[in-house]
Amino acid sequence: GICIEMKEVTKKYDSISALNGIDMEIPCGARYSLIGPNGAGKSTTLKILVGLLKPDSGKVTVGGFDPVTNQAKGIIGYLPEDAYPYINLTLKENLEYIGAIRGVEDPKSRAMDLIEKLDLLPYRYTKVSQLSRGNRQKLSVALAIVHHPKVILLDEPLNYLDIPTQASVIKMLDDLKATYLVSTHIMEIAEKLSRNVIIIGHGRVTWNGTMDHLRKMA
Ligand code: ADP
Ligand code: ADP
Repeated sequence: GICIEMKEVTKKYDSISALNGIDMEIPCGARYSLIGPNGAGKSTTLKILVGLLKPDSGKVTVGGFDPVTNQAKGIIGYLPEDAYPYINLTLKENLEYIGAIRGVEDPKSRAMDLIEKLDLLPYRYTKVSQLSRGNRQKLSVALAIVHHPKVILLDEPLNYLDIPTQASVIKMLDDLKATYLVSTHIMEIAEKLSRNVIIIGHGRVTWNGTMDHLRKMA
């Protein structure tokens, strides 16, 4: 089936048109990068899919649900552009706390599982305020997926990460059985993330296809 669908979606902020008719269909289980320069409409697209923003017109479904419904919320994992974990809690406490809020069965073991996968073991008792930017970003990615979401929407997840750290995040994402759409403005990052790409510019989809095909066109 189709897990992410947008049909002729438009969105304005006051007089600024952010989206001018976005169309996409992402099959369940597929992985896509959402590429485009700053201002293209990537964050707005993701916020609409998460239900944080309402489109002005058009149709949106995630996992078959309208994004503003609770059913949709439960299956979505979202990393906002400006993710901020709880600053006075430790890395591990953040994962346990958010895991518990989102109904994870055994939040403590889930927390350890993610900590190990992301090579964060030495920092598990470190308060977020004392974490490096890179480790804070890794934690933010882990928080986005702590509840085993079926549809994963990540806004520039590899920001602030050096190459080895990018690799551990990509490895962890690769191991997940989920549909994912990950935004980036960096082509090299998109190439590492997925075989499929959607390119947007000025609030419209200008390319939707495989990375291989895109390379042949270039
Ligand atoms: P991207 O994520 O690709 O950088 P955005 O979705 O953030 O693009 O932005 C798309 C357009 O909408 C840009 O022109 C941006 O300046 C504008 N925009 C985004 N957020 C707001 C906002 N809160 N208020 C006004 N304009 C905004
Ligand atoms: P409520 O329904 O009690 O108002 P929220 O709207 O905060 O609670 O969250 C509802 C559901 O949305 C949560 O159970 C969780 O599955 C999901 N959710 C909220 N925030 C995020 C996020 N950043 N990433 C992934 N899922 C989230």
